[in-house]
Amino acid sequence: MATSQIPQIINLAGKSALITGASSGIGRSTAVLFRQLGASVIAVARNADRLKELVEECETIKQPGFIHAVSADVTREDDVDSLFTSVQQKFGDKFDILINNAGLLEKGSILETDTKQYDRVMDLNLKAIYNITAKAAQYLINAKGNVVNVSSVNGMRSFPGVLAYNISKAGVDQLTRCVALELAAQGVRVNSVNPGVTVTELHRRSGMDDKAYQSFLDHSKSTHALGRAGQSIEVARAIAFLASDAASFITGVTLPVDGGRHAMCPR
Ligand code: NDP
Repeated sequence: MATSQIPQIINLAGKSALITGASSGIGRSTAVLFRQLGASVIAVARNADRLKELVEECETIKQPGFIHAVSADVTREDDVDSLFTSVQQKFGDKFDILINNAGLLEKGSILETDTKQYDRVMDLNLKAIYNITAKAAQYLINAKGNVVNVSSVNGMRSFPGVLAYNISKAGVDQLTRCVALELAAQGVRVNSVNPGVTVTELHRRSGMDDKAYQSFLDHSKSTHALGRAGQSIEVARAIAFLASDAASFITGVTLPVDGGRHAMCPR
């Protein structure tokens, strides 16, 4: 068979997707890749300027469909309500794919984490995913669509000094399994990707300076079996696979995208 006749395994042509945390890192790479694969995208984050840059980049992609940016804080009920007004306007009463990606990392052990920090991390990393998934459920049922949550290797393994983050991501993994079982009968699949260290703004936003971040990336060479940190596009590709019909018999999985980190004992 000539190469041009081989069907494209990961194809999102004609699909509609809502992606949170799309202004940088994994979410941004996912939004661009989804447009390249033919999906229409609603891209959500707080920073309107960065969303505008994303829209400008996506408008150079020659594929049917569109990208529409919504500036919203997904931890705020009123913002999420406005977001779903935009969803209704752009997608109607159904859409195919929900990517729950927005998240933050804050350091702190059990001795250092106060309830304000705990709530801040849980509100974004877990409660917002619950809230958006609940609001999206009927749209996804109408489309027989699917959800991909962006969890972390920290949901599967524990690392000291990031207590709230670890708990939030373990919660995301359990939410993934729960909702997968609850919506399977309606034809909706729910999965997560669990990245290892990935080069994005996440760690810098948590307070690491240039030197600490470089040393963290150097350390990743020994903590990831493949000998390096990942790139956001490598996570985006796994998200696109799980969101596509190529994964039609996959639901309830938490897929490590971590260069083998989850399989390793500490060195
Ligand atoms: P980035 O910091 O680059 O991206 C985070 C995104 O979330 C940004 O687009 C940010 O946009 C958005 N965001 C943050 N707070 C809110 C909010 N309240 N409402 C709406 N959007 C918000 O980090 P990553 O790309 O790395 O993070 C994406 C996901 O990947 C997270 O869930 C993270 O936990 C997970 N992950 C990342 C790993 C890594 O090593 N990078 C490893 C494992 C998991 P804005 O500021 O404009 O709102």
